[in-house]
Parts: sequence; C-alpha cells; structure tokens
Amino acid sequence: MGTGCAGLTAALYTARANLNPLVLTGTMPGGLLTTTSIVENFPGFPEGIDGFELMTRMQKQAERFGARIQFGTLEAADLKSDPIKLTIDGDPLETKTFIIASGAGHRHLGLESETKLENKGVTFCATCDGALPMFRDQPLLVVGGGDSACEEALYLTRFGSKVYLVHRRDELRASKIMAERTLAHDTIEPIWNSVVTDILDVEKGKVTGARLKNIKTGKEQTLDCAGVFVAIGHIPNTQLFKGVLDLDENGYIVPTKGAATSVPGVFVAGDCSDHVYRQAVTAAGMGCAAAIDAERYLAAIQS
Ligand SMILES: Cc1cc2nc3c(=O)[nH]c(=O)nc-3n(C[C@H](O)[C@H](O)[C@H](O)COP(=O)(O)OP(=O)(O)OC[C@H]3O[C@@H](n4cnc5c(N)ncnc54)[C@H](O)[C@@H]3O)c2cc1C
Repeated sequence: MGTGCAGLTAALYTARANLNPLVLTGTMPGGLLTTTSIVENFPGFPEGIDGFELMTRMQKQAERFGARIQFGTLEAADLKSDPIKLTIDGDPLETKTFIIASGAGHRHLGLESETKLENKGVTFCATCDGALPMFRDQPLLVVGGGDSACEEALYLTRFGSKVYLVHRRDELRASKIMAERTLAHDTIEPIWNSVVTDILDVEKGKVTGARLKNIKTGKEQTLDCAGVFVAIGHIPNTQLFKGVLDLDENGYIVPTKGAATSVPGVFVAGDCSDHVYRQAVTAAGMGCAAAIDAERYLAAIQS
C-alpha cells in the first residue's frame, strides 16, 4: 500500500524475491517526494535529483523485476481474515501478506498563502530544505512549539541569520532539554502567544515575510523572513487500521518486531510508523526491512 520511498523499495525487494507484488498508488503516485523539486540528501546523487524523477526511477526499478503498479486507493481492509481481504476502489482483493507504506501528511496552517507559496519559501521539513541557497543568511521563521519545531529551529540556526520561533502558547510543548537548548540559542527568538495569519508575498511568488497576531493582546505585526517552516505536526495515513493494529496516541502504527505489526502477515514501513526520522532514505530502508520480513513470513507459513 503506497508508492512512496517505502512502498516502492518494498516492491523492489519483494519483486526480486519473485513474490509478484501488487503496489497500490493511492491518490499520490510516487508519494510525498514528488512534491519537492530538488532532493540533495538521497545517497547516490551527488548533484541532487528532482523528487519526481527519483520516484519515477524507483518505480521503474521495481517494475523491471515484475512489480505490478496499480492506480488505486485502499478503502477498507479486513486484516484478520486469512487471506487478508482488501477493498480497492470498490473491488475486492485477497492477499497473503500486506505491507502498509501509506505515509503521513503534514498538518497545515490552513492559509491560502501557505498553499500558494509551498516550495517557494514555505516548507514542512527543515532537514530537507534548510540548506537551500534561498534560506542562507536570511531571517527564517518556524511555526510550532513541540520537539519537531525546536529541532527545526535549531537546525536552521546553521543557515539563517536569525530564526523566529512562533508559538501559540507562552511556553514550549517540547521536552525540557529540547526547550532549554532552543531558548538558550542566541540566533533563535521566540515569539509567544502568536499565530501566523498570512504569509507574504504571493504576488512576488516568494516568501518575504509573515503577518502575526498575538492571540492574547490582538496586536498584529509583520516580520521579514525568507522562509516559513511549518512544524505543527503530522497526520499518519492510518485511519483505516484504527482499532485493528496497535497505533500510538498520534495514530502512528507501532511495529511489534522489526517491520511486523500486531497482526500476522501485516507489515509496516515508512512515515506511517515513523514520527522521528521522516526521511526518504529511512523510509526506503524500512521498506526493505518490511519486504524481507514479509518474505520470511511467507517462507515460514509455507514450510
Ligand atoms: C516538500 C517535501 C520535501 C521533502 N524533501 C525531502 C528531502 O529532500 N529528503 C528526504 O529525505 N526527505 C524529504 N521529504 C520527506 C520524504 O518525502 C518522506 O520522508 C518520504 O516520502 C516518506 O516516504 P513514505 O513511502 O513513507 O510515504 P509517502 O511518500 O508519503 O507515500 C505514501 C504513499 O501511500 C499512498 N497511500 C496513502 N493512502 C493510501 C490508500 N488509502 N490507498 C493506497 N495508497 C495510499 C500515497 O498515495 C503514497 O503513494 C520531503 C517531504 C516533503 C513534503
């Protein structure tokens, strides 16, 4: 389930093991990486590679060994039946093993300007985009107050001339150590009790600043910045498995051993079970692990 880095790597490995995998694209063929232009940290591409191009190559590589890519969305799953019963766009399908690689979406601020300026200075991943030339030696703004927001802000101090950390409360939600480290950093300036109400400048097609509102005083201000990093959380695409698989409090699938889940024959890979690393290469690595675990599971039940 899924044709992001995790799903396509699982497809490559299971195809090479002659398991004849069927790979569902969902509504985002190629996954999240297709929404970004340049990927500079996937090993093997010293000059970087366009996200769409990388995912097209991954798909071709899996297809070369016989993976069958199907444009379709999983609508329902009976994971406890044997074989597992799936419904894809209304049609039934049975399978002996099932690898869930459905990814996670970013929580958005919900602003029109955020959508229009995505990849033009608005980003959801500092590790992915922070080093881009457009952010170097510029003031940057991070939205959020949890561990991720702190990590993003700290990471961005390597590139930005200043990093504003905008949080709707008057203290960080992050772990104590992370909050202390963040607030002690000279380059980071917290802006408390505030929300972003608009990102500038859609007309210019790039980020030049952000409008903020203090939710306690109602006072508004505009801050100049070249980037807005939204770090207010993720929503894993796991709603179909609620009540069936072990999910953590944020909905991420919790593997039991390796890539195995609490249901035999069901494995998990990538961002739908990883709220820590969330990188293309880690998702691919987890896809490889899920494929090998699925292969061993099949060998064990057939012997
Ligand atoms: C703008 C941006 C830039 C990024 N840049 C980088 C970078 O430079 N380097 C890096 O390492 N990482 C980067 N990332 C992170 C990287 O994209 C993710 O870590 C990676 O895509 C996770 O892969 P995945 O396979 O777990 O999930 P995804 O890529 O999210 O793929 C999930 C797949 O599951 C499918 N799916 C979901 N629901 C269903 C369903 N019901 N039925 C069937 N299929 C379904 C989707 O259609 C999709 O194909 C970036 C992310 C973003 C948003």
